[in-house]
Amino acid sequence: MARARSDIANTALRIFLQEMGSAYDEERGLQVYDGKKHFPEVRKFFGERCCYCGDALKSGRIAQDHLIAMNKTDLGLHAWGNVVPSCQDCNSIKQGTHWKDFLIQRAAGAAKERHKRVTDFIKHYGYAPKPSDLHEVAAALYDEVGAIAMTLIDTKIKHVRAKL
Ligand SMILES: [Zn+2]
Repeated sequence: MARARSDIANTALRIFLQEMGSAYDEERGLQVYDGKKHFPEVRKFFGERCCYCGDALKSGRIAQDHLIAMNKTDLGLHAWGNVVPSCQDCNSIKQGTHWKDFLIQRAAGAAKERHKRVTDFIKHYGYAPKPSDLHEVAAALYDEVGAIAMTLIDTKIKHVRAKL
């Protein structure tokens, strides 16, 4: 049950970070980031290459990676300046690794130049969200959604069980 609870809470948190990202795009006077429409522009910024290892992007093996991960600890937003092109390999092994550490690991000799590309990208779109209470709000949402969902599930089980 603990697993189910955290799955539900993580899903809610991702939706929250996605919606917050849209709001943040609007705050910056940008169109709400829509991968289908806008990812080509992002890919172009990185010369159609993976922003970490530098490999040319191959169709069907391209991911929209979040520089700052969309999870409870990192609180990356789904927004302009945080979505980057990555090859499938980099995307699947990056997990929770900080993007700078991951880039150094993957880019080897080209790390300095590639790091600059990423920081230029972040600056270009002005991605620097700093609502001071984002951590608090996200942590509360995570706990509350988990608790409410499990209470609801328990209630439904009791209801159905009474009729077995
Ligand atoms: Zn890569």
